[in-house]
Amino acid sequence: MYDLVIIGGGPAGAAAGVYAARKKIKTVLITENFGGQSVVSIEVQNWIGEKSISGLELARKLEEHVRTHKIDIEESDMVERVEKISGGFKVFSKNGKQFETKSILAASGSRRKKLGVPGEKEFGGKGVAYCATCDAPLFTGKTVAVIGAGNVGLEAARDLTSYAKKIYLLVRSEKIRGDIVTLEEISKNGYVLTPGRYVGIPEEIDDGIPFEIKMKQYSDDLNKYFEEGKKLEDEIKNNLKKINL
Ligand SMILES: Cc1cc2nc3c(=O)[nH]c(=O)nc-3n(C[C@H](O)[C@H](O)[C@H](O)COP(=O)(O)OP(=O)(O)OC[C@H]3O[C@@H](n4cnc5c(N)ncnc54)[C@H](O)[C@@H]3O)c2cc1C
Repeated sequence: MYDLVIIGGGPAGAAAGVYAARKKIKTVLITENFGGQSVVSIEVQNWIGEKSISGLELARKLEEHVRTHKIDIEESDMVERVEKISGGFKVFSKNGKQFETKSILAASGSRRKKLGVPGEKEFGGKGVAYCATCDAPLFTGKTVAVIGAGNVGLEAARDLTSYAKKIYLLVRSEKIRGDIVTLEEISKNGYVLTPGRYVGIPEEIDDGIPFEIKMKQYSDDLNKYFEEGKKLEDEIKNNLKKINL
């Protein structure tokens, strides 16, 4: 019987694996993959000790680190079911394996809620992002559309005010539902919020002229951004061709 089953090989699961091994806890780590969500990230800038690292490289390092320690690893497998047994649990995996354990640590992370609009999949990691804390610096000097104005949307807009040239906040409902405090913080940063269905943010922050954007069609506007993304992708492809890649 194991002392511990860790579910997941993202940053949390990998860290748990290393700590468990150091405490000599008899452990098996079961994961679909190493690295978790950040595998698809082109550049991670807030992993302390690395100024910049790709998601893939980070995943490789996490795996390497875990594998230097004495724990069992079941990769390319998924935990499908857990049953309570006397003195612990029985864990069933997709590959048909069973593990008895005294305890379970679920580090199975999360998955991003997708919009389900055309272009979203192709441009994921190439301009379409789901985490402003992670990716806001990559949008320095750029025009960004934040979709949604609940607390998370407003916080994303607030984080982006330090980097983006222009921010569109796309609001589906008639009202902004996020905290007024965050709205005030955005305003303090020189952005003007106009009440109404859509919120316009000034194009040139410095000249202080509010630039109100009225967007009738949420999806039409998104398409415009995806077109911009497509242009950027073509540009990258052409540049890669020039250097024979
Ligand atoms: C595109 C992108 C860019 C990002 N960039 C940054 C960044 O720059 N900086 C930053 O701080 N954060 C960034 N993040 C967020 C960061 O990746 C997450 O906060 C972090 O990965 C969470 O770690 P975690 O270990 O908790 O979970 P996850 O990374 O979600 O890992 C969970 C793991 O568990 C596995 N798993 C799930 N269910 C099961 C199961 N039943 N059985 C077995 N295995 C299972 C998954 O396959 C995965 O390997 C980014 C995320 C994305 C998507």
